[in-house]
Amino acid sequence: MSVTRQEVLDGLSKVRSPRGTGLIDSKVLSEIAVNGDKVFFSINVEASEVRAWETVRAQAEAAVRAIPGVAVAMVALTAERKPGAAAPSSPQRPAQGIPPASAHRHPHNPAGSPMSRQAEIPGVAAVIAVASGKGGVGKSTTALNLALGLRDLGLRVGLLDADIYGPSVPRLTGIREKPQLNDAKKMVPIERFGLAIMSIGFLVDEDTAMIWRGPMVMSAITQMLRDVAWGTLDVLVVDMPPGTGDAQLTLAQSVPLKGAVIVSTPQDLSLIDARRGLAMFKKVNVPVLGIVENMSFFQCPHCGTRSDIFGHGGARHEAERLGVPFLGEIPLHMSIRETSDSGNPVVESEPAGPHAAIYRAIGERIRERLQDAIAAA
Ligand code: ADP
Repeated sequence: MSVTRQEVLDGLSKVRSPRGTGLIDSKVLSEIAVNGDKVFFSINVEASEVRAWETVRAQAEAAVRAIPGVAVAMVALTAERKPGAAAPSSPQRPAQGIPPASAHRHPHNPAGSPMSRQAEIPGVAAVIAVASGKGGVGKSTTALNLALGLRDLGLRVGLLDADIYGPSVPRLTGIREKPQLNDAKKMVPIERFGLAIMSIGFLVDEDTAMIWRGPMVMSAITQMLRDVAWGTLDVLVVDMPPGTGDAQLTLAQSVPLKGAVIVSTPQDLSLIDARRGLAMFKKVNVPVLGIVENMSFFQCPHCGTRSDIFGHGGARHEAERLGVPFLGEIPLHMSIRETSDSGNPVVESEPAGPHAAIYRAIGERIRERLQDAIAAA
């Protein structure tokens, strides 16, 4: 039976805020999202108060988890900084709504690299983002097949679907089951195709995902990074939400990224969007590992003839011009679409085929760039 919102409020009634008032009366709670036996909400406070509220966050999460019938409780602490206010001292758990990189300069790292302020994820050697300037360019398809390509190189790989507005990994992988909690109350990722996979889509319906906004989105993602028992991974591939708005920028800052891969189609518009993606990662000092041109050319499924219907090569050109590596081009091909949409990605279902070879070659280039991080782990 589903837990009710009222039961959650009752469970929270004894939790007090640092201001001495009851948590519920403190006007800091977001909407409470309940989905069956899973409860999600955030506590939104000013950045200067974050440290004091971390205990309250933990108490609230424990209180909700103790309600009979609740299997998963995720309470996120989100912080917004008033313009002109001093940067907060960092809490134990990373606060969200992190201000621009310039506000976070580290004395030994004037570039303000996210690595200087974000705790790495224990056991995970390298986290990389797969991003796109807009939706529908094949970002998720690329992220999954790239993860499989890296797996084929002998690496231990995880995939986090952080596309919280439209999680597509359940569809692309055919995963229907829900993640279980381990003894430490961490969610255990689903193992499929030899990958450790986690998606917000495993926990909530797409409709619920849509109503998550702003800081809550970001903190749900950071919690998925940290409250999931990822185990030992060489690479964790994060399928980012599409676009280059504030949500993406903050996410790029709050995740300890070793690099980013930008997916673009050859059309001009998408390349303009891809440029925005490059600028975004540059702003937060995340190295761009390169650009992938997806739906680069049309390959006839019958005769194999190649047609450059979109004026192919735009992304390679753009990458050269901008001085970032070009990682490879993936054709627009029925078998990529069909295998993706039926939950059986092409690298898995046609491992000896030409498409799998392309994803593996892209994986090789990325592995080279991550070599130091993987070797050091
Ligand atoms: P995004 O994550 O950018 O929104 P998706 O990965 O969900 O995009 O892909 C959008 C659609 O395009 C899906 O139906 C997918 O199967 C299809 N698609 C992606 N890449 C290719 C490709 N190279 N060839 C054919 N279809 C593709």
